[in-house]
Amino acid sequence: MKNMFLLGECMIELMTTSSNTMKQSFAGDVFNTAVYLKRTFADVNVQLVTAVGKDPFSLNMIQYFKDENIGTDLVFTSDTKIPGLYSIQLDEHGERSFTYWRENAAARQVMQHIQSEQIAQLSAGDMFFFSGISLAVVEPQARNDFWSMVKQLKASGVQIVFDPNYRPRLWQSPNEAKAQFELAFHAADTLLPGIDDFEQLYAINNAADMIGFLAPFGIGELIIKNGPESVVALFNQSEPVEFKVKPVTNVVDTTSAGDSFNGVHLGARMNGIAVLDAIDLASKSAAFVIQHKGAIVDKVEFNQFSKT
Ligand code: ADP
Repeated sequence: MKNMFLLGECMIELMTTSSNTMKQSFAGDVFNTAVYLKRTFADVNVQLVTAVGKDPFSLNMIQYFKDENIGTDLVFTSDTKIPGLYSIQLDEHGERSFTYWRENAAARQVMQHIQSEQIAQLSAGDMFFFSGISLAVVEPQARNDFWSMVKQLKASGVQIVFDPNYRPRLWQSPNEAKAQFELAFHAADTLLPGIDDFEQLYAINNAADMIGFLAPFGIGELIIKNGPESVVALFNQSEPVEFKVKPVTNVVDTTSAGDSFNGVHLGARMNGIAVLDAIDLASKSAAFVIQHKGAIVDKVEFNQFSKT
């Protein structure tokens, strides 16, 4: 059995419904990735690395992880903190706006719970995934510990995977994000960026320039997501390959497009599926997810789709 560890934050989500009440669920980029990976490739042991509190929301969140068959051995409990929270509100044009309460979240302190015993556990994994949101969420004073852990995992042969998922408001400045991302590019064996991340942070808006920018880092597998257009893949040190995405017209909610893509792609790669076939599966899953509401779509519907 392959072992996948994903470090990040899962939040309480509140969504305004048409009747102007709030529907509560749980989401977060790394968690969404874990869910779609596990739903599609049940034979991979998927473990979240995060921290929650002792409040009822945290207990429900842990239960939700378990309901999705996600391992919770490395879901730590803070005595003093609670999970982060965000709300999604729709304006009169159907545009979504997000409001976050996450400064004090338990997940920010995840590194306080990771000692040599946990690093040994993570070192026995096959893959370790984190995102630019994970990097922004880890407390600045714990960054050295985080990178020292990543170095140890890499030295143990764990494949390091990074998705930049740049969110400007989580960083003090673009330069702070750039400095952390540079360390991630050095560490990454696989990189799953979206072009929009690079456009916002580096003013780079096409795959060819991204490939040029990333060349010095020697990343083994580079999968560039460009929404409904294409996915550009660079692997086996050969020429980039452009995969055309079949665009869907009935887009309901693009939340989690990139996350579901990542989960399915990485699960496929862990199962030895070739890069372009993995991209094909991943883009079909992402296309399904965006035709449904919410970050985590209905389990039964998704499972029916993924069997086809
Ligand atoms: P992110 O959520 O990281 O911004 P993208 O918008 O690039 O990610 O979307 C991730 C993946 O979702 C794309 O690589 C593509 O496979 C799929 N996708 C996104 N938009 C569409 C669309 N309109 N039709 C079909 N597939 C889409």
